[in-house]
Amino acid sequence: MAKQQENMGMDSVLKEKRIFKASVQFSKKSHVPSMVAYDKMYKAAEKSPDKFWGDIAKNFFWFKTWKKVVNWKNPDAQWFIGAQTNICYNALDVHVGTWRANKAAIIFEGEHGDQAVYTYSQLHREVCKFANVLKRRGIEKGDRVAIYMGMSPQLMIALLACARVGAVHSVVFGGFSSTALADRINDAKAKAVICSDGVSRRGNVIDLKKVVDDALVNCPSVLNVIVFQRSNNAVSMVEGRDHWWHELAALASVDCPAEKMSSEDPLFILYTSGSTGKPKGIMHTTGGYMVYAGYSHKHVFDIKDEDVYWCTADVGWITGHTYVTYGPLLNGATQVIYEGAVNYPDWGRIWDIIERHKVTILYTAPTAIRSFIRAGDEWVNKHNLSTLRLLGTVGEPINPEAWIWYYNVVGKKKCPIVDTWWQTETGGIMISPLPGATPMKPGSATKPLPGISVSIVKKDGSPCKANEGGFLVITKPWPSMLRDVYGDRDRFVKTYWSDIPGAYFTGDGARRDKEGYVWIMGRVDDVVNISGHRLGTSEIESALVSHEAVAEAAIASRPDEIKGNSLVAFVTLKSGYHGDSDLKHELQNHVVKEIGSIARPDEIRFAEALPKTRSGKIMRRLLREIANGNMNVSGDTSTLEDFSALEKLRVHDDE
Ligand code: ATP
Ligand code: MG
Repeated sequence: MAKQQENMGMDSVLKEKRIFKASVQFSKKSHVPSMVAYDKMYKAAEKSPDKFWGDIAKNFFWFKTWKKVVNWKNPDAQWFIGAQTNICYNALDVHVGTWRANKAAIIFEGEHGDQAVYTYSQLHREVCKFANVLKRRGIEKGDRVAIYMGMSPQLMIALLACARVGAVHSVVFGGFSSTALADRINDAKAKAVICSDGVSRRGNVIDLKKVVDDALVNCPSVLNVIVFQRSNNAVSMVEGRDHWWHELAALASVDCPAEKMSSEDPLFILYTSGSTGKPKGIMHTTGGYMVYAGYSHKHVFDIKDEDVYWCTADVGWITGHTYVTYGPLLNGATQVIYEGAVNYPDWGRIWDIIERHKVTILYTAPTAIRSFIRAGDEWVNKHNLSTLRLLGTVGEPINPEAWIWYYNVVGKKKCPIVDTWWQTETGGIMISPLPGATPMKPGSATKPLPGISVSIVKKDGSPCKANEGGFLVITKPWPSMLRDVYGDRDRFVKTYWSDIPGAYFTGDGARRDKEGYVWIMGRVDDVVNISGHRLGTSEIESALVSHEAVAEAAIASRPDEIKGNSLVAFVTLKSGYHGDSDLKHELQNHVVKEIGSIARPDEIRFAEALPKTRSGKIMRRLLREIANGNMNVSGDTSTLEDFSALEKLRVHDDE
């Protein structure tokens, strides 16, 4: 953590006061129907965490039960000690024995419009066959397997088959370069790679197999590559190393007992988004992750058997692990999986999918919401979205105006919104409304889930006062907490367990209002210091986004002789607006009006696009360098989505 942020005491500038509640009918039918029920659950968990988590864990299948719920010696935790289970068994086999056998688990839609439905029993059969394929290729319990595919049922089958045989999966988002892929394969010393030949993206086929071939030149640990034929693009197959999925699966038995895994056996490695630096290989284990994935998915999304759930995240991110692959299947849900870009062939695609598949729960990211706002309401209004009953967001702070748009235009004022705060490291959602219970305030992730203890503290660990900004920490262990940074114990200890005494440090700044609502203020690395005030980025950005012309905004700072720092705002505009000096002044005044002169941007720069990670988060550290006139951005840019966005901002810098 940079020295300047040691005593953060961030000033809160936000004045958001609006409150929204779920309808009485919604609350009545929901798993947690009131704040009284939430408080009761929360207190029960606080009073005896072992009983709370033990009772939840009893809803899962275990080959052998635990001797003790948790062992905790900061920074190391073990959950459900002595127990044995298998997450794939809990995601599939337990349903196949019930009426859900013939329930749709996955409704798949390709970018070209091809569709496929997998029931729980069909998915189970495919997973068993593929698990046998892995075994035949010599994959054993504990081996690492890298997965590099487009969104498809087979991507989920690949993860589930790894889990079934006890192999540790490491999914690499199918948009990363061969170098990024090779780095991740080597970091984990993966024995095999599962990939697809290609994937459709905006009408083009991306040649994934070629990326794998290029990566593997530098990956001596990989002995086998299994290729799923999706796009029928021409690929070269290396004799002895490369095999077609369909050829191996055709020979495989549908009978494959799930491996008995110790609760603390590793389940997967997954790299963070790289918003604040070099991605970290986060390691999660089996039992605790499973329990928390199922528990949090059920309560945050209020999931029911009749729901059609759609999380638009790629399985290459943690959201796609916990809330596409594992959470929904553990709960026996029906979900939509979509291969392509949600704005292809036009901005109506996402709404069209919701209408046709009668989606009831939509979970997406603020970056997507802001881009839909920019595209215009008419795309949404063309479609019948009346089946929607719940909306969610994840990944970045959602600006209150974007929240209101999502609520009014998409949800038609009848769908609660769950703004879910969490991280790759936390494994599952930590702070979020429970939709039938928690009154919502736009821009606030509201309150921690029962069983989760968060606090906002100063550098010395002492708690902040109400509304005072500080470091967001988690003070008690939780089942799905990260166990390590793979192969880098020092980084694990240093990043999460060294800054704040006795707690897990999230890296985010936040404040808590008088009613106990948590407001995420941005990354502590992005905090700006203006005339002795420390300001979180997200509140100033939200003020800009509340102007009718602004689609997206990012705040960065640069040193200033008088004020210590001056504020630079990077802004993209909605269609139909032109960025000229009048608009610059108007935006500066708008921020002053919304939050006061302290937050007035000294400079406004209009941009076509902001630099983002491939998971859709604004990379403010790059903007900070550009604001400071650094022509060659330093630090890791391996997860940057679009280099041209950065190039264009640099060109602007020359002018
Ligand atoms: P890296 O750790 O490599 O810098 P990253 O933090 O972006 O990348 P993720 O684990 O994908 O990697 O993202 C977690 C972060 O995303 C959180 O720490 C937080 O800053 C942000 N975030 C996620 N959900 C929310 C939310 N609902 N509100 C505000 N911020 C959020
Ligand atoms: Mg992070």
